[in-house]
Amino acid sequence: MNRCITLFCIIFIIGCGNTIKNKTPEIIKKIEPNLFYGIDLNKFSVKTKKIKRGDSFGKILEDNGIDYPEVYEILQAIKGKLNIHKLNIGKSYSLFYSKDSFNKPEYFVYHPAPESFTKIHLRDSLYGELIEKPVRFIEMEASGVITSSLYETMQNSGINDELTYYLSDIYAWTVDFFRLQKGDRFKVIYTEKFVDDSITIGIDRIKAAFFEHKGKSLYAFEYLSNPEKGIIDYFDENAKSLRRAFLQGPLKFNRISSRYNLRRRISYYGNRIRPHKGTDFAASVGTPILATANGTISKASYTKGNGNFVTIKHNSIYSTQYLHMKKRKVRVGQYVKQGDVIGWVGMTGNTSGPHVCYRFWKNGKQVDPFKQKLPDAKPISKKLKESFTEYMTPYKIKLDCIDFYDKLLNEVAEIN
Ligand SMILES: [Zn+2]
Repeated sequence: MNRCITLFCIIFIIGCGNTIKNKTPEIIKKIEPNLFYGIDLNKFSVKTKKIKRGDSFGKILEDNGIDYPEVYEILQAIKGKLNIHKLNIGKSYSLFYSKDSFNKPEYFVYHPAPESFTKIHLRDSLYGELIEKPVRFIEMEASGVITSSLYETMQNSGINDELTYYLSDIYAWTVDFFRLQKGDRFKVIYTEKFVDDSITIGIDRIKAAFFEHKGKSLYAFEYLSNPEKGIIDYFDENAKSLRRAFLQGPLKFNRISSRYNLRRRISYYGNRIRPHKGTDFAASVGTPILATANGTISKASYTKGNGNFVTIKHNSIYSTQYLHMKKRKVRVGQYVKQGDVIGWVGMTGNTSGPHVCYRFWKNGKQVDPFKQKLPDAKPISKKLKESFTEYMTPYKIKLDCIDFYDKLLNEVAEIN
């Protein structure tokens, strides 16, 4: 019971003052306990199975006592109205049998997604219908204090852990999610999609977020920054883009295994100084490697030392290089955008384990990207700044009003 209450506290934290109240999903209203896909289970018995390889609508019916001429008639009746030709393996279907005659099914229901299902009446009046359930978008709030990883914190706090990906996307340019500190904390206002009042079918989007990293406050507000092109992006409270010209690293989740170090000593080379002018990011073989900024591929080839590698020229000042790829995905001359996959992590060339060696050039000299003051991405246009501020302010007030959910504190409070 206590756990239940805690869970609700986490997900639907009550805001302060005059903030908009959380619209929590209402508890499931069971209209008729004996209805299943609108079919009365007092009159029908049901068999539910999963689509197997080789299954088709016709085969399932034939396997269940409906002969081919009848199957053909059914297919004719629903032709043009329903597409039942492609059944996805692993999705469920149900057959309904009238309780007085057990030998032949009367209804076939195919249920590929939570928000829709196909129902076909197989006897007498043949007909089929696609029933789409209305999707509700509900605004929610959540917060947490990092104890281990962001993902684990979400899971431990009972928050939809899908939010991890949305948050790490928003902050990819500013927070290194592999170097979070204990005590870093976050708050989010987001919308989640529901069917049948309370069954979640996933996160829609994050509208506003706050992340406190090493004591530094980072706000993020979603805004349509380019109405002509329909570009939606995230900006801080001063209308500054959260995107930087370069990503923190070339992987979705960056974990540095060896930094830029001009005085590195390696025992393999008799403990002599072997400068490491790149930054190594460890990841398993096959992890996608992302372009850290927009640019044109200037090299995509193989050498004995580098293995499969790619070089991107971003502008007259900056270039980046990515080594030891399992496979390259781009060719010379191709333009890539920040975040585009350019290859996959491997261990080709001179390397002892799977990683990507990331090299960064400024004016023709290899430098440590983490020591550079890198250019920011474009801010919001002057024309839009005023309307952004107007839009952002109530969300900022709302965010500021969310309390941090601290699991440990709450447990102490419950014991007392
Ligand atoms: Zn390296």
